[in-house]
Amino acid sequence: MLKVSDLSSGYGKSQVLNGLNFEGRAGEIVTLIGANGAVKTTTLKTLCGVIGATTGRVEFEGQDLTNRPPFDIVDAGITMIPEGRQLFPHFTVKDNLLMGSYKRAARPIVQRKLEEVLQIFPRVRERLGQYAGSLSGGEQQMVAIARGMMADPKLLVFDEPSLGLSPLLVQQMFDIIRDVTAHGVTVLLVEQNVFRTLRLADGTVINLNTHSA
Ligand code: ATP
Repeated sequence: MLKVSDLSSGYGKSQVLNGLNFEGRAGEIVTLIGANGAVKTTTLKTLCGVIGATTGRVEFEGQDLTNRPPFDIVDAGITMIPEGRQLFPHFTVKDNLLMGSYKRAARPIVQRKLEEVLQIFPRVRERLGQYAGSLSGGEQQMVAIARGMMADPKLLVFDEPSLGLSPLLVQQMFDIIRDVTAHGVTVLLVEQNVFRTLRLADGTVINLNTHSA
């Protein structure tokens, strides 16, 4: 489903990602692990079209997405849940969720998608009318994932979803991620905590420590 070949990128003249190769199959969880500065975020930014690739290719469902702009990547079915959630704190939870369905193909199915997402996250349903900024960290993480699901993605990309969560919430978050794959969505996530990730994630694990400059 996802095939990354010889992917390199960087910032200005400094190339930090050097020739990364990996593949992800439909419905699986692919985890990229790496220490601070091991190009985790850079890899995701390159995949999602935020920074350009200097070499290599990103193929998704047979389509070449290399160096395509972010809105084309979202239209192709790839949605990123950014590090730190990045919700709109002064908007209600419902409005935050609706903002996830800006993708052209998701607009006609917004009500159906909302109902589907709220079935996965009953806690989010209870909080629909509240300001997103008033939720706990774990609840905000659920809203961020639910908002990503509103775009009707085929591949959900998570940048360090366990960051700032207690061990119990990390466990819950990995359970939710498994739930997401049970709904037919493939997951790509980056994580820094190798031991916790290896214990909780299943599927393919790629070590990024060897790909940074
Ligand atoms: P962390 O776990 O600390 O967030 P990471 O694995 O996500 O790290 P990246 O953010 O991808 O690492 O950074 C990889 C390298 O690229 C680092 O050496 C960093 O200094 C550099 N880098 C990241 N963003 C920029 C930028 N906007 N301009 C220049 N260099 C950058």
